[in-house]
Amino acid sequence: MHPSSGNAARVTNAPRDAEAQETGATRRASSRRSSHGVPASVAGFNLLIDGVERAGSTGESEAVLDPATGEEIGRVAFASLDDLDDAIAAASSGLRQWRATPPWERGRILKKAADILRADLESAALAMTREQGKPLPEARTEVERSADFLEWGGEQARRLSDRVIAGRASGSRIEVQNHPTGVVAAFTPWNFPMALAAKKFAGALGAGCSIICKPSQETPGSVLVMARALLEAGVTPAAIAVVFGHANQVSDHLIASREVAKITFTGSIPIGKRLAAAAGAVVKPVTMELGGHAPVIVCADVDPERAADMLVRAKFTNAGQICLCPSRFFVEEPIRERFTARFVAQAKALRVGAGADPATEMGPLANARRLEAITRMVEDARDRGATVLAGGERIGDRGFFYAPTVLADVPADAEILHEEPFGPVAPILPFTEEAAMLAEANGLEFGLASYVVTDDVRRQQRLTAALEYGVVGVNGALTHNPEAPLGGWKESGIDTEGGIEILEPYLRTKHVSIQ
Ligand code: NAD
Repeated sequence: MHPSSGNAARVTNAPRDAEAQETGATRRASSRRSSHGVPASVAGFNLLIDGVERAGSTGESEAVLDPATGEEIGRVAFASLDDLDDAIAAASSGLRQWRATPPWERGRILKKAADILRADLESAALAMTREQGKPLPEARTEVERSADFLEWGGEQARRLSDRVIAGRASGSRIEVQNHPTGVVAAFTPWNFPMALAAKKFAGALGAGCSIICKPSQETPGSVLVMARALLEAGVTPAAIAVVFGHANQVSDHLIASREVAKITFTGSIPIGKRLAAAAGAVVKPVTMELGGHAPVIVCADVDPERAADMLVRAKFTNAGQICLCPSRFFVEEPIRERFTARFVAQAKALRVGAGADPATEMGPLANARRLEAITRMVEDARDRGATVLAGGERIGDRGFFYAPTVLADVPADAEILHEEPFGPVAPILPFTEEAAMLAEANGLEFGLASYVVTDDVRRQQRLTAALEYGVVGVNGALTHNPEAPLGGWKESGIDTEGGIEILEPYLRTKHVSIQ
């Protein structure tokens, strides 16, 4: 671990002061690129409505912090109800124009946006690291994956087709037509601030919908960078809006609006339930990608050191703030000691620091709320008798760093075994009896990701079949690429994102019967 972890190097942000002065200015988004490709308003995080970046009408804003230092890097404009109404009106008119754009052309535009993002990879990744904290290589990967999703959504747009069914009467037929659902309200989180929004933009825009996105106000820049790329590529300006504000006010207003036809959210289960209930009250379809608490089952037949090396990477990427990341480590007794020793040694060896420092392997937590939650969960486990084998504390007092943490002897009632940790903590839970372990692994309301580590093919089949989860990773870490659908079971979600189905959540069918 860096001895200087808590005093992590500052991310370079030279243009920020000049840009901050521009916060509140009204301007065309497409003109907001400097000659070297850095979107010039990244530190002045404005609303984007009808192709124009502007402050909120009340002038309200909130500080955006660098998680590596805790210092302000800019301010994010908050939308008033009037601003939200502007966004809704623009998205309604944008819908009429964008859905009339032929799918083939929508595909070309989305591919072009992906190429613009790829060309701007370095500046987009830097902006992401600065607001989210993740190591730069992870930010680069996320920008690439976001581009892949946009491109994939465009490719699937080109494959949109309707269906014709022969009618029962001679000469009659039924057409099953696909139509864009309408204006989409999308709520996206701070852990993968661009990629999780890219999935929604790709599906919605590919299908011909317009989209109003409310990203987390803690990481406002990444969605703005992507939205600018989409506008530069030629998406109808009014078809995209990005708004920030008081979360409940924004979601209540957008969901209740008669113009908004579809709700999509990625985030925690409690907020997902709140939004789904609001959407249910006005009978609107929802896509929900919610939290997880992934069991990982490490069987005795594998090389414990190799398994530990692989799982340390899977656990501590993005400082454990991944809905798919392993969070309950069921390790079969015969290899528990060797696995644990290696896992602890590797966790202790991780270099923790600012995301922009090339030596960094794990960055800070993304916000103070996460730091408080992880501190509380580890303290709770310790108070109930858990042994802290590595970490177990904040690093330094600047920024939001928390040490990679490994816990053993965690009692069943510890909060961390029931609440999604969403941070760099690995509880190791030995097991001897498979059926009892499986009952525990399946025993929560979560059903997103799970893992099996074994070379025994019969056991692989048995365990993957038995796990009540929407995703199972076998002998490796999980990532979501656009070519396959992914979604949670049980309370972890409704619907999937990605795959050849990526447009489906944003389409509605019309049955046309022709005699
Ligand atoms: P939170 O429950 O306060 O918020 C979760 C997300 O929802 C955030 O992005 C937030 O900006 C957004 N949000 C909050 N209220 C909202 C509202 N009324 N309308 C629309 N969006 C709203 O929790 P948090 O402290 O920000 O994040 C921690 C928890 O969130 C974690 O424990 C994890 O379960 C979950 N989470 C999951 C994912 C995921 O990829 N599934 C991503 C981020 C966070």
